[in-house]
Amino acid sequence: MKDQTLLPLYNKDKQSDLPHPPPQGSQDGASSAGTHAHARRVYIETYGCQMNVSDSELMAGILTQSGHQTVSHLDDADVVLVNTCAIRENAETKVINRLKHLNHRKRRHPELIIGVCGCMAQHLRDKLLDTAPYVDLVMGPDAYRNLPVALDSLARGVESHVSLTDRDPFLGLRLDKNEDYADIAPIRKEGIRAWLTIQRGCDKMCTFCIVPFVRGRERSLPLKLLVEDVEKLVDQGFKEVVLLGQTVNSYHDDSADFGDLLYAVGDVNGLERLRFTSPHPADATDSMIDAMASSPSVCKHLHLPLQSGSTEVLDRMRRTYTAEEYRSLVLKLRERIPDIALTTDIIVGFCGETDAEFMETYQMMADIRYDSAFMFKYSEREGTLAHKALPDDVPETVKGERLEQIIKLQESISADINSAAVGGTVPVLVEGESRRDADRYHGKTDGFKTAVFPKSDSGIGAVVNVRIDNTTAHTLIGQVV
Ligand code: SF4
Repeated sequence: MKDQTLLPLYNKDKQSDLPHPPPQGSQDGASSAGTHAHARRVYIETYGCQMNVSDSELMAGILTQSGHQTVSHLDDADVVLVNTCAIRENAETKVINRLKHLNHRKRRHPELIIGVCGCMAQHLRDKLLDTAPYVDLVMGPDAYRNLPVALDSLARGVESHVSLTDRDPFLGLRLDKNEDYADIAPIRKEGIRAWLTIQRGCDKMCTFCIVPFVRGRERSLPLKLLVEDVEKLVDQGFKEVVLLGQTVNSYHDDSADFGDLLYAVGDVNGLERLRFTSPHPADATDSMIDAMASSPSVCKHLHLPLQSGSTEVLDRMRRTYTAEEYRSLVLKLRERIPDIALTTDIIVGFCGETDAEFMETYQMMADIRYDSAFMFKYSEREGTLAHKALPDDVPETVKGERLEQIIKLQESISADINSAAVGGTVPVLVEGESRRDADRYHGKTDGFKTAVFPKSDSGIGAVVNVRIDNTTAHTLIGQVV
């Protein structure tokens, strides 16, 4: 059992009428495994990355195992857990606004328990209770086993009619380098694609990043267990599995490395496709590249975060590779896997970035020609190494101009790459009905491009060959052949 810290009382007078954003997603559908003295109906709202979605599935598993029930609508819940993201300031602002809205509901239903979980809970810690004093529970990513204990304790307060102002909040914020939740069965939504966390935490110390401080040290799950997990996912009907980790390719289990894991999982009978995210360029070993090149189920798509094309900026970011090493890696990947799709992350305007350093990023993107890219302006995060040691000195207007330049470049490259696909035929895993047209399906190619095509007899979950007739910068449009 992990930590439980009871805090003193907080006053509840900070409330607001600010508008609130809708949730990005919810974890729904699990039903109670048994009766429970204080069984609660829990609605989980998820913000941020896929790792958070996976953690929400884990929380649903922990709660269900202990006799609680997860529900798909806030109106049915007596507990709402907001699983948060701290990667950017606007993600935190969005969550704070959402909490204010939930507090309006709590004023009408004082028995409602509001919990904040995940990275933002860990990042802001007890400061969160100054901003949102009506929150009952603050729990970081390594403390989810405490959820049943926390809900029991909070439910006793509710059932004893302790007034809102006299309820003690529950804090679970200790990072635990041994916690891997290996024994917990997550509750997943049905579908084609399942995400499987193979590693938690991060040992890299990129100066712009809050993750090592909110998710703790890196730890990998046992290879044998992960192979069994994938076998179960295939039995449940999933066609594609995405392996998740902060630096997924630094995975290791005794002498087995990430390449060994790709081979082992890729061999699972009935698994159509295997993907992984996000790898770190410094951990892209020959073993990983070999497995990508030779295991038929491993998709030929690599999301390889560059961040900057300047070695000096990479050094200030502590990315642990140079621009030249990154270029050599891309050359090697394209030699071994000629049709590989490459995508990336870019940050412009990092501390001290000069025009010349920015142009190195621009040139690198023009040379490598990524299939697509996530591009951001640098924004400083309190608690990071950059916040402590490097001035955020590139003016906002300059950051904005640089971002616009690379977006324009990338849009044109993506459009060119997609146009070159016209006339060709690509295998597509059918994922569901197109949101814009009920007569069409959408699915993903091996290279993770979205394809849209008229419905055929092969339904959701099948791999169909689609001839590409038309494209946009983001979508392939075609016919099943
Ligand atoms: S590798 Fe760097 S950017 Fe990625 S999670 Fe770790 S510290 Fe953050």
